[in-house]
Amino acid sequence: MGARTGSQFLEGLRKTRREIWVDGERIEDVTTHPKLRGGAESLAAIFDRQHAYAADCLYVHLDNGQPTNVSHMIPRSKDELRHRHAGLVRLSEGSMGIMGRTPDYMNMKFAAFASAPRVWAGADGRNERGAQNLLAFQRRLAEADLSLTHTIIQPTTDKRTDSQILGNKVTVRKVGQTADGIIVRGARVLATLAPYADEQTVYPGQPIPAGATEYAIAFALPLDTPGLKFLCRDSASAPGADPFDKPLSSRFDEQDAFCIFDDVLVPWDRIFIDGDVEIYNSMRQTGYAISMTTQSTVRALTKLEFAYGLATRMAELIGDHSPATTEMLGEMACYVRMTANALELSLEQAREREDGVWFPNGAVLEPMRAMLAVWMPRVAEIITLIGSHNLLTTPSRAQLDDPKLRPLIDEMLSGADGATADERAAVFRMAWDLVGSSLGGRGFLYERFYLTSAARNKQMLHSRFFDRTRSQALLNDMLSRAKCRLHSH
Ligand SMILES: Cc1cc2nc3c(=O)[nH]c(=O)nc-3n(C[C@H](O)[C@H](O)[C@H](O)COP(=O)(O)OP(=O)(O)OC[C@H]3O[C@@H](n4cnc5c(N)ncnc54)[C@H](O)[C@@H]3O)c2cc1C
Repeated sequence: MGARTGSQFLEGLRKTRREIWVDGERIEDVTTHPKLRGGAESLAAIFDRQHAYAADCLYVHLDNGQPTNVSHMIPRSKDELRHRHAGLVRLSEGSMGIMGRTPDYMNMKFAAFASAPRVWAGADGRNERGAQNLLAFQRRLAEADLSLTHTIIQPTTDKRTDSQILGNKVTVRKVGQTADGIIVRGARVLATLAPYADEQTVYPGQPIPAGATEYAIAFALPLDTPGLKFLCRDSASAPGADPFDKPLSSRFDEQDAFCIFDDVLVPWDRIFIDGDVEIYNSMRQTGYAISMTTQSTVRALTKLEFAYGLATRMAELIGDHSPATTEMLGEMACYVRMTANALELSLEQAREREDGVWFPNGAVLEPMRAMLAVWMPRVAEIITLIGSHNLLTTPSRAQLDDPKLRPLIDEMLSGADGATADERAAVFRMAWDLVGSSLGGRGFLYERFYLTSAARNKQMLHSRFFDRTRSQALLNDMLSRAKCRLHSH
């Protein structure tokens, strides 16, 4: 089939009888329910977008000759990396970077997984069957242009014991086996996009300890698999609101769900890892973390650029050219420039793996995981500082359209330099929807945690990934100039 249209995507969602709960209600049709429809329509528009910008967003799949979304590509040259980059930018613009988990996010991970079947199989080929299952799944994912959700994080019950994994009876684990496959039980967080996904995936996120075999599982399942249940958070989608009043929440709530596996059968051909802790802990070798950080940094850059444009216009609309505001806008410009620089340098310094697969330079992008989790909340804070009470003096569409109120609004709620009351209300409403609405609150939490906390990312960067050779050499040079003996003989 290849790249789907929006209506084909919606048709796929209607076909599966998934168990999605929002508030007290099990949702029958996620494409029409008032609390979910806005997200479904925006995602459908992103499927259509790949055809509207086909030159950037699509490539010809080597196996079947079909036009396919670029996020499925396994790049074989720097040019292919640049092609994929252009497509990712176009896709992120579909939601101004507000939807973090458009399907390209997971597609990128599975393309990286499929680029390295030897990692899944193990050096001695002991998990060859799992590797073949993974390859077949990724082929189908690309050909059928599916939408995936995923859960890789253990739920929190008691932080003193959660990290121990062994003996944890909450997190998802293998509890049995039949002739047809394995039985899994437990829960995982947090399935973003669950109502809009065709399949649920479970794969290695954080390393697990030796001996934790029942926790060392990876698989993919259709969302309507019996026993699979998704408890969504409260909707942030402002059902029934005029899109003028809630321009972002009425469109871009991608939802997040707690995922329960209530004795779920995973068929043998859907299992990628079954009990092999060593293989489970070796997934970074596939390059998937680089692909994930690439997609999420592209998406974040679009959101930063959008937020910068919005904040600049807010300041103009109220004639705020104060040094304090100008400095904060300059701070936003720094975040935009640094993020763009990191992406460009990662492409410029792209590297070819020994098997001919190309990746952006992961070391360049690695700090973005820690910094974006701090910059994004700061950007939200800047928008509230510039906006102040103006974020709440925003007549609604109905008030603007009221013939009695309108002349008063025009007289008292227009903006600086002749800006109309319409534009002022539209811009400040958009800003509040970005940082202060229910969607804004969720966005704040998302940016802080979706690639784990800034704290953990900084710790991992320092203790595992950062090449400190030059820093060490500079220090040693200075110590020797200070006539300090470094080694005893
Ligand atoms: C909106 C949203 C959507 C998400 N979507 C998905 C999804 O689709 N799929 C998925 O698998 N997961 C998803 N997640 C889960 C996400 O991966 C986890 O929330 C994330 O990994 C953080 O884990 P945690 O909540 O245990 O927080 P922690 O990492 O435990 O952080 C909690 C607090 O502890 C601090 N902290 C943690 N470790 C340290 C340390 N070593 N030293 C000092 N301080 C520390 C942090 O700074 C933070 O304040 C989502 C999360 C959110 C909020």
